[in-house]
Amino acid sequence: ADAAVEKLAPRASRRRWTVGYLEELRRQGDFASACEVVKHCGDTSLQQAAARSTTVLLGGRQRGRPLCGVCELPVRGSYVWCQGCGHGGHLAHMRSWFETEVECPTGCGHRCQVVVLP
Ligand SMILES: [Zn+2]
Ligand SMILES: [Zn+2]
Ligand SMILES: [Zn+2]
Repeated sequence: ADAAVEKLAPRASRRRWTVGYLEELRRQGDFASACEVVKHCGDTSLQQAAARSTTVLLGGRQRGRPLCGVCELPVRGSYVWCQGCGHGGHLAHMRSWFETEVECPTGCGHRCQVVVLP
């Protein structure tokens, strides 16, 4: 199946497919499989993104407090997050990030729509 995808799909749509597949695996909590997919996809930008998002995930679990996707520090006060991928961060950091970027600062590949927690 992989060889067929390799031949038929241009690089961009293959990356989109991989990102979608990874999101699905992570949503199910299957981080081991997601890790394997990243390792074998041969896409360095995805590999770098995965390395970063793993850091965010582990840190969040240890501190019990949401981590900022931009500066990777725990967020006190105003937390802004994306309902699509669940990533977020400091209000000021997220605001300035999305002034110039459209994709999630964690590198998950999602085009975020951020909202402010009440
Ligand atoms: Zn921050
Ligand atoms: Zn994200
Ligand atoms: Zn997002």
